[in-house]
Amino acid sequence: MNKAWMFEELDYHKRLIPLTVLPLLVLLVIGVALLVYTTGGIKYVYSHSMYLPIVLAGLVFGFKGGILVGVVGGLVLGPMMPIEVASGEMQATKNWLYRTGFFALIGFLSGVASDAARAYLKHLKWLAERDSESGLPNRQALFRHLSELSRVKDDGDVLFLAVVSFENLVELKSSFGYGVIAKAVVQLDQKLSQCIEDREVYRTAPEQLAVLIKADEHKLNSVLYSLAEDLQEPLKYENISVHLDTRMGCVQLGELSEKSETYLQRAETALIVAQEKVQDSVVYSPEILSATRENVSLLGELKKALRSGEVSMHYQPKIHIPTSQVHSVEALMRWQHPTLGNIPPGNFIPRAEQSTLINTITEFALDQSLQQQLAWQEQGIHLPVAVNISTRNLLQPGFSDKVLELLNKYGLKGENLELEVTEGALMMDMQRTLDELAKLDDLKIIISIDDFGTGYSSLQYLHSLPISLLKIDQCFVRRLPGDAGAAHILEAAITLAHKMGIRAIAEGVETLEVYDFLADLGCDFAQGYLMSRPLPAKHFTSWYQQCNGRYACWGGI
Ligand code: C2E
Ligand code: CA
Ligand code: CA
Repeated sequence: MNKAWMFEELDYHKRLIPLTVLPLLVLLVIGVALLVYTTGGIKYVYSHSMYLPIVLAGLVFGFKGGILVGVVGGLVLGPMMPIEVASGEMQATKNWLYRTGFFALIGFLSGVASDAARAYLKHLKWLAERDSESGLPNRQALFRHLSELSRVKDDGDVLFLAVVSFENLVELKSSFGYGVIAKAVVQLDQKLSQCIEDREVYRTAPEQLAVLIKADEHKLNSVLYSLAEDLQEPLKYENISVHLDTRMGCVQLGELSEKSETYLQRAETALIVAQEKVQDSVVYSPEILSATRENVSLLGELKKALRSGEVSMHYQPKIHIPTSQVHSVEALMRWQHPTLGNIPPGNFIPRAEQSTLINTITEFALDQSLQQQLAWQEQGIHLPVAVNISTRNLLQPGFSDKVLELLNKYGLKGENLELEVTEGALMMDMQRTLDELAKLDDLKIIISIDDFGTGYSSLQYLHSLPISLLKIDQCFVRRLPGDAGAAHILEAAITLAHKMGIRAIAEGVETLEVYDFLADLGCDFAQGYLMSRPLPAKHFTSWYQQCNGRYACWGGI
């Protein structure tokens, strides 16, 4: 049962019960007095029935109510009530005084018990609306607050709900341990409270805080901008400056006519868009919702598409520059949607990476690529295939076992497979990633670092990784040969690779000029549209056979 709902029910009863109980108490007290009188007087046991209204009063009205009804009950059965109606014998004063005192005590005790139970329930209610780690109010508290706002709305201000998320949570946890998260939440809370007047900060998810902002509708963007700037400032953790990578999603609360959950959901939708577009903040609009719905439904279709043959792998050659030989191929995913046409991997893979669907995608890519490799081997074409894998795959338990299972399925050796991993992936959870990479290395699988130079690669870790290739990102390659900065980066990356005893590959090679420049720099491999675009397997086979496995006779050199 939803705890908050349960407490709402309790509150409702708390308001309703005293109103109905009061006349009942009066009736019970009078009823017991009549019962005692008509059954012959106080000497018969019916006087004990007075406990009923006393205990009830204690439970409902607390100890004061219990004592009051105890005294009233004692008096009603007191001086005016005979011991025996038939003989007319009256009670001694100490007799009814003692009874009244005893009734008051019973009322007091039942009241104390009820007050204690009530205080405990109140504590439980407080707990149900608190995040245990940080002590901040949680999602339920936000919902309650929003629903209360809707009752007392309209004080002239425009209210916004903003959600702030930490993007580098996993990284922080792996570098500093779990403690850093709670600390970061508390410090973020302090920062938010400094930045926003009239603030309330809620922890709505482990890596997410929500805050209500009162602002002029037209000044919202500048408020969000300065908020984002303030959040950029590093946090202090054990005297170390820690950078918190934050994003924000925001929604206007307007007429407060929607359910509280809907507002949070909208702010979170805007947050997802901010994450996808790598923007500091995004304000919700109905168009955003329909776009994300489309994306989500696209993901829903992806699983079916993998089975129905709409998704396939295309292959792009990697050329060994000194010999001009085609050295290997990179497998890249293509989705030919029946109504939307060709959907580029950038439109569905990053989103799939946020769910377990990425495991299915990677398994599909591996399975298809290895199957294709076997088919090529049967035609006398021996080319290792490189498959892109994502962070989640390396953190997925038993990933290397799955890879081994697929290699065995096609009777292929580990050295026929290359896995391209992005830098960011390596930094997410260093120890687990290292363990998994070591297992893959044991299988002799080639590991390369994709998009090198774009992530936060720590050179310190690079040498401890079992990698064979640095794949220099195309953003540098594209600026060659004119851009001196890009040329220096390439040169440094190639030197670094060689000093580490591994090889360098440049991707995104589109012109002969760049190819030659890379050759002069001593780069080992090149990949790009100049040699070939990614091609369906059949077309790649023709391309390969036509050039006899050597780029030199194809590109016009
Ligand atoms: P990536 O791994 O960096 O792949 C290189 C991208 O650059 C590919 O885009 C490729 O088609 C494109 N490319 C190759 N040569 C050139 C060139 O000379 N000029 C230009 N402008 N582009 C070139 P694509 O196929 O759209 O893939 C985009 C990204 O999607 C890939 O980047 C990779 O991160 C991801 N991806 C693609 N297939 C898979 C897959 O099967 N699994 C996973 N996890 N990710 C995939
Ligand atoms: Ca790649
Ligand atoms: Ca790349």
